Amino acid sequence: MEDLFKLRSASGIPYVYEQDSRSVGPRGPLLLEDYILHEKMAHFNRERIPERVVHAKGSAAFGTFTVTNDITQYTRAKLFNQLGKQTKIILRMSTIAGEKGSADSERDPRGFAVKFYTEDGNWDLVGNNTPVFFIKDPKKFSDFIHSQKRDPYHNLRSATRIWDFFSFNPESLHQVLILMSNRGTPYGLRHMHGYGSHAFSMINAKNERVYVKFHFRTQQGIKNFSHEDAIQMRSTDPDFSQRDLFEAIERGNFPKWTLFIQVMTTDQCAKSSFNPFDITKTWSQKEFPLIEVGVLELNKNPSNYFAQVEQLAFAPAHVVDGIGYSPDKVLQGRILSYPDAQRYRLGANYEQIPVNQCLFAVHNYQRDGLMTVTGNGEGLANYYPNSFDQLFIENDYEEPPVKLGNTIADWYDRNSAGENDHYSQPRTLFREVLDNKERGDLCINIIKSMQGIIGEKSLEIINRQLYHFCQVDQMLAQIIAEGLGISPPHYQGSPCTENHTIHKPL
Ligand code: NDP
Repeated sequence: MEDLFKLRSASGIPYVYEQDSRSVGPRGPLLLEDYILHEKMAHFNRERIPERVVHAKGSAAFGTFTVTNDITQYTRAKLFNQLGKQTKIILRMSTIAGEKGSADSERDPRGFAVKFYTEDGNWDLVGNNTPVFFIKDPKKFSDFIHSQKRDPYHNLRSATRIWDFFSFNPESLHQVLILMSNRGTPYGLRHMHGYGSHAFSMINAKNERVYVKFHFRTQQGIKNFSHEDAIQMRSTDPDFSQRDLFEAIERGNFPKWTLFIQVMTTDQCAKSSFNPFDITKTWSQKEFPLIEVGVLELNKNPSNYFAQVEQLAFAPAHVVDGIGYSPDKVLQGRILSYPDAQRYRLGANYEQIPVNQCLFAVHNYQRDGLMTVTGNGEGLANYYPNSFDQLFIENDYEEPPVKLGNTIADWYDRNSAGENDHYSQPRTLFREVLDNKERGDLCINIIKSMQGIIGEKSLEIINRQLYHFCQVDQMLAQIIAEGLGISPPHYQGSPCTENHTIHKPL
């Protein structure tokens, strides 16, 4: 017992002096041979790992997912195969654009990523607190993030660049309106919904496929900061979200979300007037009603933030049998980019880190790489097939084929009517979902944000964005133009009339 608590180096060498370095006499220079000194300094220098390039500031907690409704007609995924069945989960929620030390109450979408530790392997559902996203093609992702992060010249975030990107990419409008509504500044992390955002597949025991969207609806009720309260909170408690979540769980006040799915058959997908795999679109809840699935509860704080939150790695590529991908282009891009980002950040063996491990030992033929901390296959064969081990492949996990068109480069089809309606759903949100007060707050929030647009291109950028607002609702564009003090010749006050000077962007 005594030995167990001896202070030692990482290799197990007991420390002799903790406080003093070895020196030549009491006043002389330090000795190169003081290995413990090197180890302490060198390890400290390496305490920081590359922070996530997006979603750097986050909070996570462990919990359970409990099935409350039978959805086995849609999926054979084992975690859903029995009422009352519980699966261990970890949920991480985060801001997107800010760095690891940034304030929690920024106006930003929040990441909402769940890892389900299922008996069939880990399933990562890596979404946001909004049902849509800014872009619908992953080729634009790095451009989008560059525009939202710090300006390479003065190292400040820039409303000019943010709105410049939005104005050139009208598919962002749906997400922009949600972001600028009061839901863009949620009160911490417990009072917001979460969404899988992409469409995914579900595959049942008969090997039949449907497409689904996932919705986590908060049982705490929606609660948002006003624009002013969010600004205030950034300075009074920049870590409000982390504190609020951590303390609620410590108090035994466990936050819960009800998981629902929306289901579209492959026939309904084929007949849809818009592309149901476009992540800038929602599926109407009136046409595709929410079907309850279960309850997600957070009930245990991580025991160490770095080990279990900083090293936590999600990838939408990780699905389990009974759940599959969809042709959503952004999802397809993330299947590549997320595991790649984790390999860069945590190393090729990031799934060997305890918080990322699945419930059972994994056998395959991947070997070596930095930080191999398992047995690395011991002396077993490292190729397949071989005459020596008993590993086999189970064909029960085969998915039904997906029918596709046969054009490879269909860029021209992308301009067809069903692909490029960027305005109808934002219009429904603005006119039918938001009430008067929320519409007013939305306009004020947009004006406050767009007031930051500066420089010689400012009128051009504002004009281009007003065009998009005008396509949603003339009143929306008008209020924002007036709030920004846009006057002739750039803006005539009536953006949707024939002689207005808001021009359709080229
Ligand atoms: P519904 O009236 O059936 O649903 C509206 C949805 O909008 C509800 O889930 C509501 O959440 C949510 N909502 C309300 N205010 C906001 C906001 N400021 N930001 C984001 N979501 C909000 O309508 P439809 O399903 O027919 O969709 C109409 C429009 O609602 C869509 O064009 C889209 O803009 C928006 N929406 C749709 C969602 C969907 O999955 N169909 C999801 C979220 C938004 P709550 O019930 O908690 O108020």
